[in-house]
Amino acid sequence: MKKTPEDNSSTPIDYNRLFEGIRDFKANEFIPRQQFFEELGQQQKPHTLFIGCSDSRVVPHLITQTFPGELFVVRNIANLVPFYKKHADTYLATTSVIEYAVNQMNVSNIVVCGHSNCGGCAALYQDKEIKHLPHTKKWLELASPVKALVEEKIAKNKINLEERSALTEKLNVVEQVNHLMKYPYIRKRVKEGTLTIMGWYYHIDKGEIYNYDKKLKRFIRVD
Ligand SMILES: [Zn+2]
Repeated sequence: MKKTPEDNSSTPIDYNRLFEGIRDFKANEFIPRQQFFEELGQQQKPHTLFIGCSDSRVVPHLITQTFPGELFVVRNIANLVPFYKKHADTYLATTSVIEYAVNQMNVSNIVVCGHSNCGGCAALYQDKEIKHLPHTKKWLELASPVKALVEEKIAKNKINLEERSALTEKLNVVEQVNHLMKYPYIRKRVKEGTLTIMGWYYHIDKGEIYNYDKKLKRFIRVD
């Protein structure tokens, strides 16, 4: 019997869950669309680079209802974009994905997608709690300007603590879009009009996506 998302309880599930899924994929997805997959196997032409959070609830193909072959995806904690570096002197996964998507796959769009209840964004304020996660702590430095901005707003009583999470998650998207615009090859293509950069905010429990409007400086719900 086919599982529904509601069957997925929080109790530990043994790895057979994954093998059942593989058999289910073959029978119910692959076989009915075999020709599509055979053609897909020959090449990919993704139109969009999707930079999202590794959070298990953020599923790029699901929320955009796109097919395999459409999205070139990189996900990391808190959907961060590393600062531009000219020289390749270390192993930078996200940076190489961006480079490959833009300069090799020639994508037309880049989406930076943040989301509600983001553990990575929350961890910006949990130095003690993430003491045992040194790589995560280091990685989150890429969002430190956002933390400073939000803390300033709290200090000036412009927002309260309850609003902190959503504001951090949203400002983080804007910050990471700004990081992208520091990449010379991205800036060039945006100026030419051959590349569109978007910042999204996915509200998980409402099933809504908000797109950042640069002119209005706010997120507008996609209807
Ligand atoms: Zn997240």
